[in-house]
Amino acid sequence: MTGPESTVDRIDTGRPHPARVYDWYLGGKDNYPVDEELGRHIMSLDPGAERAARSNRWFMQRATRHVVGAAGIRQFLDIGTGIPTEPNLHQIAQRTTADARVVYVDNDPIVLAHAGALLRGTPQGVTEYIQADVREPEKILAEAGRVLDLDRPVALSLIALMHFITDESGAYELVETLVEALAPGSCLALSAMTADFEPENVRRGIETYAKGGMTLVGRSHAEVGRFFEGLDLVEPGVVSVKDWHPELAEDETSIGDAPVSLYGGVGFKA
Ligand code: SAH
Repeated sequence: MTGPESTVDRIDTGRPHPARVYDWYLGGKDNYPVDEELGRHIMSLDPGAERAARSNRWFMQRATRHVVGAAGIRQFLDIGTGIPTEPNLHQIAQRTTADARVVYVDNDPIVLAHAGALLRGTPQGVTEYIQADVREPEKILAEAGRVLDLDRPVALSLIALMHFITDESGAYELVETLVEALAPGSCLALSAMTADFEPENVRRGIETYAKGGMTLVGRSHAEVGRFFEGLDLVEPGVVSVKDWHPELAEDETSIGDAPVSLYGGVGFKA
């Protein structure tokens, strides 16, 4: 858990980064011209990209409200956190449960550089930041275990992260490793891109990201469902993120009825 200053010089502004392109879609300011250029190019090919980013962010918020409210979970491990965008996960959790403990993880130095905003929580709660890659689940568990009690339920969130990890680089195995380490009563909240709804737009988006040096995978409904293997899915199961428990929405604006190309769901460990 390093200080932000030391990493600022490692931010590579010469090529686009997923966290910064996503920040640009959300209207944030923590992105560079290369990120905006890629974002604009994707938008020209797939005008749904910005709506998808917003809709996904709202899914994170609704899923967190469900987990902290209905399920009463007080510990959170959020991997692929992204650049802070209010409300962040810990703010939603600590609004209901002031002593909620939240560990954030991302591998992009720009997220570390802005981690200050992720670490301003309630005095009763704890927020911590770990710079790590999701492909090192053991390292993440070891470091998170210093802050979270892994013998008690934890909500693991992998929101808009797993489409950056191919099957070949162990996407399913690493999720299994993480889930296996969690106590009964824990849950997985996950969203990931799909080409099921708009195959042509998503294919062009994937190609454009590839030209920028980023690998993205679109997964089918069954493939996203596989991440929840062995878990009890909360109704309505794996659905487009915009259709997951809309009644939990707060401060969402209308994004229309067109499809949103990310599936999301929440599953609990018995
Ligand atoms: N979860 C946030 C942000 C999603 S953007 C939200 O849904 O609002 C995806 C994030 O995953 C980015 O911040 C990116 O830096 C991070 N990421 C991509 N690959 C990663 C990896 N291998 N390990 C850890 N984080 C990764």
